[in-house]
Amino acid sequence: MDKRDVVIVGAGHGGAQAAIALRQLGFVGSIAVIGNEPELPYERPPLSKEYFAGDKTFERILIRPAAFWAERHVDMLLSTEVTAVDAKAKRLSFANGGRLDYGALIWATGGTPRKLTCSGHDLKGVHAVRTRADVLKMMDELPAVTQVVIIGGGYIGLEAAAVLRKFGKRVVLLEALDRVLARVAGPELSRFYEAEHRAHGVDLRTSVRVECIEEKDGRVTGVRLAGGEIVTADMVIVGIGIIPAVEPLIAAGAQGSNGVTVDEFCRTSLPDVYAIGDCAAHANGFADGATIRLESVQNANDQATTAAKAITGNLEPYTAAPWFWSNQYALKLQTVGLSIGFDRTVLRGDSATRSFSVVYLKNGHVIALDCVNAVKDYVQGKKLVETRAEIDLKLLADAAKPLKELTLPAS
Ligand SMILES: Cc1cc2nc3c(=O)[nH]c(=O)nc-3n(C[C@H](O)[C@H](O)[C@H](O)COP(=O)(O)OP(=O)(O)OC[C@H]3O[C@@H](n4cnc5c(N)ncnc54)[C@H](O)[C@@H]3O)c2cc1C
Repeated sequence: MDKRDVVIVGAGHGGAQAAIALRQLGFVGSIAVIGNEPELPYERPPLSKEYFAGDKTFERILIRPAAFWAERHVDMLLSTEVTAVDAKAKRLSFANGGRLDYGALIWATGGTPRKLTCSGHDLKGVHAVRTRADVLKMMDELPAVTQVVIIGGGYIGLEAAAVLRKFGKRVVLLEALDRVLARVAGPELSRFYEAEHRAHGVDLRTSVRVECIEEKDGRVTGVRLAGGEIVTADMVIVGIGIIPAVEPLIAAGAQGSNGVTVDEFCRTSLPDVYAIGDCAAHANGFADGATIRLESVQNANDQATTAAKAITGNLEPYTAAPWFWSNQYALKLQTVGLSIGFDRTVLRGDSATRSFSVVYLKNGHVIALDCVNAVKDYVQGKKLVETRAEIDLKLLADAAKPLKELTLPAS
């Protein structure tokens, strides 16, 4: 039976970084990365930004060029789906009938886009944005498209809306909750982005319930809302979250449900099996120790390094501060920390200038910042989040005062 010392399942952000980190740490054993997409690992964020907009080629979003993997003796097994894990035999089975044994396994499979459950969810012209293939399909159809309905007002839906407006498409964005970005940000930021999108011509509607997708000859023609209105659509983009791709691992006996549960070293409950990135549920200190999954490049990369260190005998817990970014129109949002459970916000600057920050506090401590075109606040605010600083609110609200000058700690 063919075997590799480390097998990484998932050739995305986490999987690529795990292989890179192993070699950087001096690991000389054999490594295989198995991915079910046909491409070498590439960056996913540009799929709803520069790549979708045509501003970056695919080659420019590859995480590393092909030669990099060959030089470091990392075997890339692409277009290969892992369907089963035998944790006792330490053996993987593939959809194509192949098998591979592992010494250690890193599960880095991300997630699959959540689908609508109503009728019409799988019609032609209904798209998700998760893979290069998804974006190529949309690009192919776009020349014949006049109006796009985007379902979901999260980052991906909003970024797609911004790109489509750039292309001159009519865009209707439907959000079920009473504000966009409700899962990840406070109301100030939601209202700001709603206003920006409307100012750019997006018909953005909140508190809207989708009843079904309408069709003609198997292709989408519109979205029917509760109440009966049909919003015309030549294309529908669904951005309503992901379901972690963990079935084979859970079937093998790993603990978890919404993701595979891992400890602070990214170890699952199965021997020599690690999980990282979007699919890994972990206790996060920036969420008061709650078990959560983070969907960000930072988390995938930092957990990859944590797992690689553990495999090379260097146990270092995962404690990195979460950060994230989003580009929409000329707005660069950078967030640090997790705003979950905030009880107060402080605005730094004036949102009308399109350069401002929202500071989130809990029990008087800074827990997160959302910085719009305010890179200094983002860079300097990280320390406040890491130390859960307690700061006089008036000082915090004074945008003329650099965050690095504000009193630190006391927690
Ligand atoms: C459109 C879009 C925009 C984003 N924008 C941002 C952003 O601006 N900033 C940010 O921080 N994050 C952003 N993200 C999130 C970020 O891309 C993810 O958090 C990151 O890719 C997670 O890395 P991962 O390795 O966990 O999963 P992925 O990068 O998704 O990689 C997992 C890989 O595993 C494959 N796979 C799954 N199951 C199997 C199997 N059984 N066998 C073999 N292969 C399998 C998947 O097909 C995929 O190729 C964005 C995501 C998307 C989709």
